[in-house]
Amino acid sequence: MLAAVLTGPGRLELVERPEEPDPGPGEVLVAVRRVGICGTDYHAYDGTQNFIEYPCVLGHELAVEVLAVGRDVTRVAPGDRCAVMPYLSCGACVACRRGRSNCCERIEVLGVTRPGGLRERMLLPAAQLFPGDGLALEQLVLVETLGIGWHAVRRAAPGPDDTVLVLGAGPVGLAVAQAARRTAARVLLADPVPRRVGFAAGAGLHAFVVGGDLVARVREHAAGELPSVVFDASGNHASMERAFELVGPGGRLVFVGHTRGVVTFANPRFHASEVTLHASRNATAQDWEQVLAAVRDGSLDATAWVNHRSTLTSVVDDLPRLASSPGHVVKAVVDLGPEEERP
Ligand SMILES: [Zn+2]
Ligand SMILES: [Zn+2]
Repeated sequence: MLAAVLTGPGRLELVERPEEPDPGPGEVLVAVRRVGICGTDYHAYDGTQNFIEYPCVLGHELAVEVLAVGRDVTRVAPGDRCAVMPYLSCGACVACRRGRSNCCERIEVLGVTRPGGLRERMLLPAAQLFPGDGLALEQLVLVETLGIGWHAVRRAAPGPDDTVLVLGAGPVGLAVAQAARRTAARVLLADPVPRRVGFAAGAGLHAFVVGGDLVARVREHAAGELPSVVFDASGNHASMERAFELVGPGGRLVFVGHTRGVVTFANPRFHASEVTLHASRNATAQDWEQVLAAVRDGSLDATAWVNHRSTLTSVVDDLPRLASSPGHVVKAVVDLGPEEERP
């Protein structure tokens, strides 16, 4: 079986690996059909991802087809097409016991700390599979990205009185904006890259290019007032520090992206405005059920984001190119399966 293995920063190789064994109790053997590529993969490739352990098989955004199930598995059946939740939680730590499996103390993530899906077949715990029930592989492969945005929005829970600002118009920023506009009065999206802003505007979002006096720019787009909820989806250190200045009085700031550096902020303004700061990591099964329901009823659709395609063979050359110019592609997907049957 072929697998794309990242042996260290800058070293992605296609290797022949032994076949997976038959699924044991609670396990499912799947054929990987689509793999989404994102910033996590680019950072793993260039050696700047916070949690990666080499060697690693990348691939945490997965759409798969069930080939065989182990004894006692009833959640899925052979032939089912599923999205795969890549976060493996322990179920026993204080976070898991409180329903916060997304920040489990012993969390493992497929494609980051455990072998991911850039390979032809893999064994998975049945609980990680979310049946698509008729959804296309192209929709299922985007559930992970949409889940990140969905969870971040649930952290701040914007309502009809809120103006939301999303910093960063990559796939995560787009996912946050799509989820936020279901409930917030106004959603703004800002990014320094005109190409990204153009794409977001084309998707019907109120997007603008960051430049010059950012506070003034934001006020200009938010009817004179600073937004009550700000999401930083850039993972950019300078952007994360600047985000504190953009939150209106009594507002919330959510860090969806993360950085290796120490983030500092001016305490007087933070205190005076009584800002609430949230981190947002991964997503929960509840987030995924809600995302799948929204994709199914058509109110959440990200398929237009996919504007680059690779195969398991070509990704070895494509990933370095994509990693060196991340703003050029909104969403890259590796296609390992049969063509989608279009209705
Ligand atoms: Zn991702
Ligand atoms: Zn846990």
